[in-house]
Amino acid sequence: MSINKGVGLKIVILGSLGVGKTSLLNRYVNNRFTQEYRTTLGASILPKEIRVDNTLVKLQIWDTGGQERFKSLVPSFSKGSDGCVLVFDVTDRDSLYALEGWREEILLQIPLEYKDYPFVALGNKVDLTERQVTSDEAEAWCSSHNIPYFEVSAKEDINVDHAFENIARNALLQDSKWKDSYLMNSISLGDNRTSVRNNCC
Ligand code: GDP
Ligand code: MG
Repeated sequence: MSINKGVGLKIVILGSLGVGKTSLLNRYVNNRFTQEYRTTLGASILPKEIRVDNTLVKLQIWDTGGQERFKSLVPSFSKGSDGCVLVFDVTDRDSLYALEGWREEILLQIPLEYKDYPFVALGNKVDLTERQVTSDEAEAWCSSHNIPYFEVSAKEDINVDHAFENIARNALLQDSKWKDSYLMNSISLGDNRTSVRNNCC
């Protein structure tokens, strides 16, 4: 079996403060969970390598580090990203409503021709009983935007790997489509150049 060099993808994780973004990353990357509430300042970038079918995918997952309070920082944070994980807390209805704003902010940073920018939405803390958001409600918002939805728990390690694999797979798919179209454009540009050169010399 041939081993390729791998593909590097930048994934950003967004959602309101306290929904569990850092905890989900800590679960996914380090397989740990801590109850302690910490908001460190400055973005942190967590690396994780996974295999998607035959491709080694080197994820760099960007966590806001508490800066989600300042929406103005989202543009520089999300620049050049290949996909976005949107997180809300199933025990906090407002955090679901906030996803609309996060989604719009991200899309403002994406080139217009990049129509299928991949998102995944995670409803976190499903281990808690005091839910404010039903699965149906979350599904309705996600399907209206064509976004895959997963119910997860960083604490109990429910569905976390599965959700990140979904965004990695979709980001990889979009990345190769993007590269293919770039390659096609370069080939046709190359053809034009050849014909110009043939004409003039
Ligand atoms: P962030 O601000 O979105 O990064 O949220 P944090 O990861 O800092 O988590 C906020 C709080 O929610 C912390 O006290 C976590 O321990 C707690 N938390 C995160 N994920 C879960 C979960 O799946 N279940 C429960 N019960 N608590 C969680
Ligand atoms: Mg955090």
